[in-house]
Amino acid sequence: MKVPFSRVSISDSEIERVVATLRSGWLTTGPRVKQFEQNFAEYVGAKYAVALNSCTAAMHLALAALDVQPGDVVLTPTLTFAATAEISRYLGAIPVLVDCDPRSLCMSPDEAAETVDALQRGRAPRGLAAAPTGRIRVVLPMHYGGQSAEMQPLLELADRCGAVVIEDAAHCIPADYRKSSAAPWQRVGTIGLAGAFSFYANKCVTTGEGGMLVTDDKALADRTRLLSLHGLSSDAWKRYDARGSWYYEIVEAGFKYNLGDPAAALGLGQLARSDVMLAHRTRIANRYRELLSGHDDVELPEQLPNRRHAWHLYALRLRPEAWKIDRAQFIREMAERGVSCSVHYIPLHLHPYYREQFGYEAGAFPAADRVWKELVSLPLFADMTDVEVEYVAATIQDVRDKYGT
Ligand SMILES: *Cc1c(COP(=O)(O)O)cnc(C)c1O
Repeated sequence: MKVPFSRVSISDSEIERVVATLRSGWLTTGPRVKQFEQNFAEYVGAKYAVALNSCTAAMHLALAALDVQPGDVVLTPTLTFAATAEISRYLGAIPVLVDCDPRSLCMSPDEAAETVDALQRGRAPRGLAAAPTGRIRVVLPMHYGGQSAEMQPLLELADRCGAVVIEDAAHCIPADYRKSSAAPWQRVGTIGLAGAFSFYANKCVTTGEGGMLVTDDKALADRTRLLSLHGLSSDAWKRYDARGSWYYEIVEAGFKYNLGDPAAALGLGQLARSDVMLAHRTRIANRYRELLSGHDDVELPEQLPNRRHAWHLYALRLRPEAWKIDRAQFIREMAERGVSCSVHYIPLHLHPYYREQFGYEAGAFPAADRVWKELVSLPLFADMTDVEVEYVAATIQDVRDKYGT
């Protein structure tokens, strides 16, 4: 049997929606993108949503729209995907890396506070030889695997240093957070000033490639929209609508980050199934817990209080002393038995670019340095069958029988 790491769930009606869009002749940004923006804003409870061709673009434009300048500081988790940090580099800003909380695997609020304290005193924060002197502009948590970072202390920290919170909510369609059991639930991605979502092929809701920036801040939404399409004063849809206006003005040197209607048509169908797909992923995560608990050689992902998990990833940790093989061989053994696993993530500070540009070294971030070597993401996707889940669990048992201590 073969279990892929991820398999896209596309319904017949979604295929029909895309085909109908192709027949409509409208291939770039048009009525379906507008509808997708409206439906998405409503789904997450944000005032404004701007559809873009990736989550990376959404984060880039959020920073650009905030006028993040060269040398400015953006607090960024080290245990994240490339995109979370590279967008700061697009603007010449400095992604100052922050260690993770070993339980949530998200940016640690305590570590973030220490980093801010060091920066404000002109001392080198963890991993750096000297303190960057630019202003702290953005705190950029990433919600690992679909479970919210500890947002309240991060919001307070950002407030204290005159920064704003932009959320990398790539894994979170949908996830919720509340600051205490008495507080109201808030949708992840709408807690900071803005949130960026991904519709990449293996994400919870997909358009193949695509992303969305949501915010309640009209000026931020307007400038993001402007920058997303060449800095033109009105977008293509308005230019070509029934009023037939050919007139436009270039008011900024913008980018080409707009989403097309065929992708939005798929997104509309996916979004309508989002709660159903979440229910399936939740059922699979619960099944994994039933099948895999009771062994102290693996640590299963924890459902933390005051969060509702999107279950984009099921990342367990191998207790190294309990295995005769390392993580890489564990993944090879799983693959040989037909189960594709992955690793989220190799911390940014271990990559050549961040080592060479900023002088980061292995060992700079105790939690991320320890935890990442133990992480294994199991297959998890909405259309996964019970037989597939059981096969993954049985395969882990098979590897354990051979290589457990
Ligand atoms: C997938 C992902 C992104 C990038 O999403 P794109 O839509 O491919 O740009 C950013 N951050 C995280 C954490 C991701 O997993």
